[in-house]
Amino acid sequence: MPRKRTTRHRSPVKRPKEKKISQLSDRERELLSIHLDENIIESKRKIVHRTIVERSTNIGEGNFDRIDASDLKLLFDLYDREFFDNYFSVNHPRIVDFRVSTRMTRAGGKTTKERKGYTIALSSHLLERSFRNDHNEIKVNGKVCHDRLDAAMRIMEHEILHLHEFLLFGVSSCGKHRFKELGRNYFGHTATKHELRKREDIPEPDHDFRPGDIVLFDHGGNRIEGKITRITRRATVMVENKKGPYKGQDNKRYVKYYVPMRFLLLSNKGTDQ
Ligand SMILES: [Zn+2]
Repeated sequence: MPRKRTTRHRSPVKRPKEKKISQLSDRERELLSIHLDENIIESKRKIVHRTIVERSTNIGEGNFDRIDASDLKLLFDLYDREFFDNYFSVNHPRIVDFRVSTRMTRAGGKTTKERKGYTIALSSHLLERSFRNDHNEIKVNGKVCHDRLDAAMRIMEHEILHLHEFLLFGVSSCGKHRFKELGRNYFGHTATKHELRKREDIPEPDHDFRPGDIVLFDHGGNRIEGKITRITRRATVMVENKKGPYKGQDNKRYVKYYVPMRFLLLSNKGTDQ
């Protein structure tokens, strides 16, 4: 349970509505029932890997030196075609922007809700530092990756799952059962972590949460939304509350929570910037 500094005030909660399965369309429910066999997943992944090497202007081999946004788009489109029968391009065309981040040093990827659509970012920082010489096998999402493209694909799979949950349910959390089940059924994932910084032996949070991110967490049976103001071992999350003891620059009152990172969910409102 996240520790709450002030206990006397009940917070008024602005909760993004989570859609129920009964509210989904037939096509969406059909997607949720996908359960691919391990061999099928592997053969689809091989097609994606091969096609990227064939078509990308940057990536000529699995251990590429450079990856850019156009590669991520190509990767996403190939996954859409191979695994989702073009569900994303048909039902949500141009909803995602892609970005390669040189600054993300902990998370392999990140999916953010923007004012219009979403951004999927992958960390080139982590990818470039892996598979140099002694790192020939690194696990991402519980699966062994043999080269950088393989690892980038695994990270993209994780971000596609986030996008998929956001689009269907309005919220997404890779710590929760539903995400893990979808990961298993679509891609055979057995974990949600990566080992791209194995050498430093630091446990990897899935997301690079940053101050300014709007996050959700459960407290006392309620789902609470707030903004991260500081990150140390835990995140400091300020939650709007008329009776809160803290006054923000916006003149609103807030209650402060200290929340372990693993309890945080990224709100579909994304980053408050
Ligand atoms: Zn995640």
